[in-house]
Amino acid sequence: MTQNQRTRVVAAGRPHEPNSPVNPPVDFTSTYVYRPSVEYPRVYAREGIPSFEPLEQLLAELEGGEHGLLFSSGLSAVSAVINQLPLGGHLVIPKHAYMGYYTMAQQMAAKGLFTLHRVDIAQTDEVIETLREVAAAVGSEDAHPMRALLWIESPTNPMLEVADVPALIAAARELGITTAVDNTFATPLRQNPLASGADVVVHSVTKFLSGHSDVIMGAAITSEESLHSALHGHRNLHGTIPGPMEVFLALRGVRTLAVRLDAAERNAEYLAAKLQKLTHDDDAPLIAVSYPGLTSHAQHERAKALLGGFGAIITLDTGRREAADAVLEALKVWTPATSLGGVESLAERRRRHPGEPDTVPEGLIRLSVGIEDAEDLYEDLAQALRSASSSEPPSFA
Ligand SMILES: *Cc1c(COP(=O)(O)O)cnc(C)c1O
Repeated sequence: MTQNQRTRVVAAGRPHEPNSPVNPPVDFTSTYVYRPSVEYPRVYAREGIPSFEPLEQLLAELEGGEHGLLFSSGLSAVSAVINQLPLGGHLVIPKHAYMGYYTMAQQMAAKGLFTLHRVDIAQTDEVIETLREVAAAVGSEDAHPMRALLWIESPTNPMLEVADVPALIAAARELGITTAVDNTFATPLRQNPLASGADVVVHSVTKFLSGHSDVIMGAAITSEESLHSALHGHRNLHGTIPGPMEVFLALRGVRTLAVRLDAAERNAEYLAAKLQKLTHDDDAPLIAVSYPGLTSHAQHERAKALLGGFGAIITLDTGRREAADAVLEALKVWTPATSLGGVESLAERRRRHPGEPDTVPEGLIRLSVGIEDAEDLYEDLAQALRSASSSEPPSFA
């Protein structure tokens, strides 16, 4: 029976045997009893434990893949994938890929491990042109399964560019280039890149999937046996497994993903439209509001066609670092903090991180919209914006 995604998040990975607990048990153990006379696959917990399997199975089902693998963080899942590139390979990444990933890729490229190509992931023709150059540089005689990797993030963090994911994957496949998609922002409920032919999907489970800002975890989902086993081997040898408590929390969190995402998205749509009106308010230092659900978003039509929803992330450009900081100081309902995807609304000036590229405006605030009352969220932002405006230094120019 094919199930709706909303059923899967609740039902997948549950025990069904009579007398079993309705939630899978979690083992706190590093090792397993071994008697030489009994053949048993479990040896040591770094290889993975049965407690991972319900959540791995759930994430695999949600993404439509064969295998899910949990990692200690989103970044360690990302790292496991790009470490599959052979020496001298090519990595094509969005210029506004998640900052930590971007820094990692830059450092690895600087060591000479591979050649890095930065693209505007929303510009399909530009990306495909780069893929052609990469394919020509690699040549066809190289038999390594991952001589080149196209990394897609859509929508991007924090610039919210929306890629034509199916078109990019199709072009890469035709050129023999592997594709990986960071699906953290869209979640498997709004976008399923494996169905478009992606080789692997990665998640920061930390964000929407866990949903309560109390867990750091990552995941990689693929249907390719060899890639799955390579990623599993990487996880084992690098020791990037999550702890059992985190697995328990993440599984409990993901059960409510569908209702949380619906509520947060509804709030985000409401807020984006209402905040956009404030850009005309002389008392609020707000230059632009970006959200894929706004008709003013450069890829709004594409987002409408490709995504099952516009998500819960909005950005506000306040024009100046000082204005953004003053807004963050004045917030009362929103929590000024990094990260996203939790039930609570968070706001952050992204350029506070030295790793964020300078193409992200200094005064840009990323909003992660939670599930509080929409009007309360709006009123708090409006008062913070107005107080930031009145606290601006007088101009003597
Ligand atoms: C947060 C994030 C990551 C990194 O995940 P961690 O769990 O923090 O390691 C990767 N990609 C995106 C899009 C993210 O937002």
